[in-house]
Amino acid sequence: MPSSFKIGKIAGIEIGVHWSWIFIFALITWSFADGILNEFYPEWSTGQRWAVGVIVAGIFFASILLHELSHSLVAKARGIPVKGITLFVFGGVSNLGREAQSAGEEFQIAIVGPATSLVIGAVFAILWAALRGPAPEAAAIAGYLAFINGIIAAFNMLPGFPLDGGRVFRSIVWARNRNLLQATRIASRTGEFVAYGLMAAGAIQFFFNPVGGIWMFLIGLFLRNASAASYEQLVLQTTLQGLSARELASSDYVPVPPDMTVVHLVSELMLAGRGRCYPVVAGEELLGLVTLTDVQRLEREQWPTTSVFRAMTPFERLRTVAPQEEALKVLQLMGEADVNQVPVVDGRRLLGIVSRADILRLIQVRRAVAAEG
Ligand SMILES: [Zn+2]
Repeated sequence: MPSSFKIGKIAGIEIGVHWSWIFIFALITWSFADGILNEFYPEWSTGQRWAVGVIVAGIFFASILLHELSHSLVAKARGIPVKGITLFVFGGVSNLGREAQSAGEEFQIAIVGPATSLVIGAVFAILWAALRGPAPEAAAIAGYLAFINGIIAAFNMLPGFPLDGGRVFRSIVWARNRNLLQATRIASRTGEFVAYGLMAAGAIQFFFNPVGGIWMFLIGLFLRNASAASYEQLVLQTTLQGLSARELASSDYVPVPPDMTVVHLVSELMLAGRGRCYPVVAGEELLGLVTLTDVQRLEREQWPTTSVFRAMTPFERLRTVAPQEEALKVLQLMGEADVNQVPVVDGRRLLGIVSRADILRLIQVRRAVAAEG
């Protein structure tokens, strides 16, 4: 993921940090040094306050890391491969090798995170109580860290998927109705409600505390997008499960010979409604793909004298897939490469073309059939 950078490995799990964390780190340091410490310890020097601010932000970061690590360690203990962790503002994302296979498994993996934050919060609360008399400065820091870990536990336990609380909620629904897709739909709907609630609360809060209001609104927005996206992802996974590129591929295309002129291609095929994308073939061998985009790159005067062979995107620069490639991988590849179709090839032999539109149609049909049954 290019939006994050790696900081190391713990227990074989790659730890990544989202770039926004640099901003969060600065914000926490600043709000602590300039806000809380300034208020309670006006006699401290600026340097002292900022030094303590950095330490607090560091401990906060470690708390988030422990929270996320606890999810991954439980997942690993259940035999789920964990590729890595990416830390975000109030938590992170564990990149698990597969989804939980049972409601119980999901419940355990989800609940351990907020539980970990609560335990960390409790430890700092005990420190706060113990230090209040002998060292009030240290107690203030411990109190703040107890508070913020409590907030993290509470925020993550909001019952909106894909937050931990939403996952816990989903696992309970899943255990009851034994239908993962339906449980996810219910949990992500709830997630949307929670998100809109946060956004509304943020909008109201804005009038009293603009910065806090904007924060809450943005978190609501983030949650809304995340819950919709994770539901769609699951629908895709469920509908495309077990399908290969070969099964998805359509042979409903018109192959063109390399020496056909572009003007011929446009007037006889494209304008006649035979599609936007044409494989250029010699015998059974795929030489390249010529699409409307390729044609549009040429001046109109060049059309009669240019062959499709010169206009096409050559095989070497095409994204292609093998026939046994998983359907979901093919869709991912199209997203990454930002293309609408991918040829399925065996060596250089063209077996078919998978197009985004075909996949979406298939998903619609499968969903409709599932809803009937
Ligand atoms: Zn979590």
